[in-house]
Amino acid sequence: MDRKKIAIIGAGLGGLSAALRLRILGYDVDVYEQNNFVGGKAGQISEQGFRFDTGPSLITMPFVLVELFKSSGEKLEDYITLEQLPITCKYFFPDSTIINAYADVDNFATEIENKTFDNAKSVKKYLNYCEKIYKLSSDLFLFKSFTEKKNFFSLSALKALFNIKSLDTNRTMHDANSSFFKDYRNIQLFDRYATYNGSNPYKAPATLNIIQHVEYNLGGFISLEGIHSIPKAIKNVAEKKGVRFFLNSNVQKIVHNNNVVTGIIINDKTKDYDIVVSNSDVENTYRNLLDDKISRAAKKYSAIEKSSSAIVFCWGVEGLNQNLEVHNILFSCNYKIEFDELFEKNKTPNDPTIYIYISSKFKEDDAPKGYENWFVMINAPYNNNQNWDEEVKKAREIIINKISTHLDFDLRNKIKFEKVLTPVNIERQTSSIGGSIYGISSNNRMAAFLRQQNQSKNYKGLYFCGGSAHPGGGIPLVLLSGKITADLINKYKKER
Ligand SMILES: Cc1cc2nc3c(=O)[nH]c(=O)nc-3n(C[C@H](O)[C@H](O)[C@H](O)COP(=O)(O)OP(=O)(O)OC[C@H]3O[C@@H](n4cnc5c(N)ncnc54)[C@H](O)[C@@H]3O)c2cc1C
Repeated sequence: MDRKKIAIIGAGLGGLSAALRLRILGYDVDVYEQNNFVGGKAGQISEQGFRFDTGPSLITMPFVLVELFKSSGEKLEDYITLEQLPITCKYFFPDSTIINAYADVDNFATEIENKTFDNAKSVKKYLNYCEKIYKLSSDLFLFKSFTEKKNFFSLSALKALFNIKSLDTNRTMHDANSSFFKDYRNIQLFDRYATYNGSNPYKAPATLNIIQHVEYNLGGFISLEGIHSIPKAIKNVAEKKGVRFFLNSNVQKIVHNNNVVTGIIINDKTKDYDIVVSNSDVENTYRNLLDDKISRAAKKYSAIEKSSSAIVFCWGVEGLNQNLEVHNILFSCNYKIEFDELFEKNKTPNDPTIYIYISSKFKEDDAPKGYENWFVMINAPYNNNQNWDEEVKKAREIIINKISTHLDFDLRNKIKFEKVLTPVNIERQTSSIGGSIYGISSNNRMAAFLRQQNQSKNYKGLYFCGGSAHPGGGIPLVLLSGKITADLINKYKKER
């Protein structure tokens, strides 16, 4: 058995996935995490009887998580219960239209036919189109490494190449969605999926419409134990298998000798490793862990437009609001203006789309009796030295007024607990440069090819996993990035 020693920097979901898989493959694995908890962006706040997941709230592609546990001889259901809610999300529009995105696709299509000027057939046609892109692209773009040339000559890659038009790379997501629907509400609803990787639907390629297939055709799930239970469960299994975790352990540097990685520096001491996996943000890894500001890769990552960040209000709210589901969206009046403000003007939108997630609706102990835990999020630009105190103050007023009007509910006087997350907090807590949630944005046709590949070309023995590396952000993709990374390390173990 190969007993190569591997250090993983960061216990985000990508790092945890890589750690567990590498251990199963027989490596000695040490995980260093600067926080006193695992999960990174998938963290939690637990205070005054309220519990909030601080990052993700909806799980897609659950089979990725199931397979991770299965590959280590465990059953996911012994740790976490995934469930699909009857309504995946409730959408509120400025003209008072309410659309329930039923988990049952037929019911959802009928809902759209009943509430808008489009018909159920258009919805089905659209979701078939999204499925087609997924079927053509997922094998190459999501499940496999881009570093290996053979993947580009595989049957699935050739199929994608012969059907390049069907991948819809030349249109933007918004243009494609506008060709399927005539009602602006449906276009806005489906354009929203660009934000699932921090991008702008008016610039991101329509290929990203695979996300709608993933959520509607494959289903959106919750964890009955809360999202933070996922990183905790993976850590438990990994520890059981022999992975060593070092919390409160900030890795200061990655050590290399003529671009061959030899270890890490922690507490001013060097520790030797054969391989280092960085689950830290790619730009942070180059800039701060490698002190590399000059290589082509390092320059590229600081030049590409970053993904958006978020302002999140964790509110403990008095009363049980029957008008809201677990996941809710209150749309802005003009989506184009909202994204121009976010990406062109780098400011928090004046009329933001608001997301409200209430886990206490299914997990009662997430709030004291008679209260709910509202995770209220708007998209915000990455931190570029804006005055965040001012931005938060402005956003708070706008959000409270908008929710109070839409729901006919005196929210201002019902907030009994408050904690705020800004791009600065996100940056501080996860070392993601600018608090950008997904690293680089996909506001570019070539985005999928611009992401950091999992095996470094510049540094032998260095690997990347997590949302800013291939295949991208979001729970299933970062878990896959851990898998792709582990498989690459195992494949090239003789070289390093
Ligand atoms: C507000 C918000 C909402 C989201 N909503 C969703 C959603 O609904 N669905 C979904 O699928 N995804 C969602 N996401 C995205 C998802 O959370 C992320 O893509 C995913 O969790 C990122 O995992 P990661 O592996 O990239 O690591 P991260 O979560 O970025 O963790 C990296 C870890 O590395 C540690 N680290 C960094 N540098 C060092 C160092 N030098 N030394 C030691 N440790 C270090 C950090 O402390 C951190 O714990 C959301 C994210 C946010 C912030």
